[in-house]
Amino acid sequence: HSHRPKSEKLYNEALEHIVGGVNSPSRSFKAVGGGAPVFMASAEGAHFTDVDGHRYIDYLAAYGPIITGHAHPHITEAIIQAAREGVLYGTPTEREIALAKRLKAAIPSLDKVRFVNSGTEAVMTTVRVARACTGRSKLIKFAGCYHGHSDLVLVAAGSGPSTLGIPDSAGIPQTIASEVITVPFNDVTALREALERWGDEVAAVMVEPIVGNFGMVMPEPGFLEQLCALTRAAGALVIYDEVISAFRFHYGAAQTYSALPDHAAIEPDLTALGKIIGGGLPIGAYGGRAAVMEQVAPLGPAYQAGTMAGNPASVAAGLACLEVLEQPGVYETMERLATRLADGLSTAAGRHGIPLTINRIRGAFSTHFCGHPVTCYAEAQDTDGERFARFFRLLLDQGICLAPSKYEAWFLTTAHTESDIDHTLAAAEHAFTIMAAEQ
Ligand code: PMP
Repeated sequence: HSHRPKSEKLYNEALEHIVGGVNSPSRSFKAVGGGAPVFMASAEGAHFTDVDGHRYIDYLAAYGPIITGHAHPHITEAIIQAAREGVLYGTPTEREIALAKRLKAAIPSLDKVRFVNSGTEAVMTTVRVARACTGRSKLIKFAGCYHGHSDLVLVAAGSGPSTLGIPDSAGIPQTIASEVITVPFNDVTALREALERWGDEVAAVMVEPIVGNFGMVMPEPGFLEQLCALTRAAGALVIYDEVISAFRFHYGAAQTYSALPDHAAIEPDLTALGKIIGGGLPIGAYGGRAAVMEQVAPLGPAYQAGTMAGNPASVAAGLACLEVLEQPGVYETMERLATRLADGLSTAAGRHGIPLTINRIRGAFSTHFCGHPVTCYAEAQDTDGERFARFFRLLLDQGICLAPSKYEAWFLTTAHTESDIDHTLAAAEHAFTIMAAEQ
């Protein structure tokens, strides 16, 4: 029987009209035993209320953007003000310059930026620009890194040493898939071999400098430095996908984060941004060195456009969000709460004999149900999906909301409190007790 009858009812109705009942497959509960996902009715700060009236502590943060918590008053005011002034002009507006300046000030590798509507678009366009700059067509990416759903980057999430051209989706032509080479993250040797073999055809090497898509994974010392050196030596461009990582760990990007190994020795040619920089409204951005960005229309031959791009509401929300994040102590507080939560989960799992690997980077961490460190996708794949599903459901029924994916991170926000951590640790203790008894 269902504890969430209204969610069940809405899901059944949604199934008749929306494919799979969800507008993004990541929201489906398919990977955690199926059935109706929870339909949320409202959200404030770190909490959701669902359509059945249950309350939840939110660690999903909408897959990253909601870093200041839901309905933050400063961002809400900015959106209301922007809405009053008209939500879409199709002309340039002044605040676009202000957001561009803020991004440039925080991320010095950006000489010029361009706003788009999603991380997918931002990434997709960086590849086009890299191809325009180099006259080459191939892309090297890393296994398990997700870069949005455009054809080229939805290829070969396999975990072999260096795989070529296996689409992760139907509908991607083999001709496109064969333009992508995938190597394991943190594996300099595999990258060197791929560049030796295909180097003069490679337009770019794309990487999440801190991985967010098969767990939170730091690059090992030397990896990014070697990546940049080898890529440049091959005459290709370095693209950083910072859609998740920018403004997640500090007021800046992973590339400017002092705890990132090699951060001082590396500078990408192009960076893709999204999520947090829109304060919860749709946005993406890409940018890089002036000479590279000058390939983009109307200056150069690489075409990219957008009816909604740089729209006043998204830009206003993004600016307001960055203003909140700029306040002193914001990231330290999220880190303190995340540390207490991650350490508490780790200790409790250990006490119950449940293998759990936690990778925490400041206010975000991943939980893999496996007994060894996770530094690449192959290791992440050892995560016990059934155990995660059980944990996910036991937490959900106690009012703790995670992403329904065994790889997705827990995100702390500026709105979480010590009391949220207390409740979450109590719920996890209960979940582990039940799971241990079931072993
Ligand atoms: N790049 C990375 C690293 C991402 O995590 C995501 C989304 N999770 C994207 C790109 C795509 O962004 P969007 O969903 O806004 O298209």
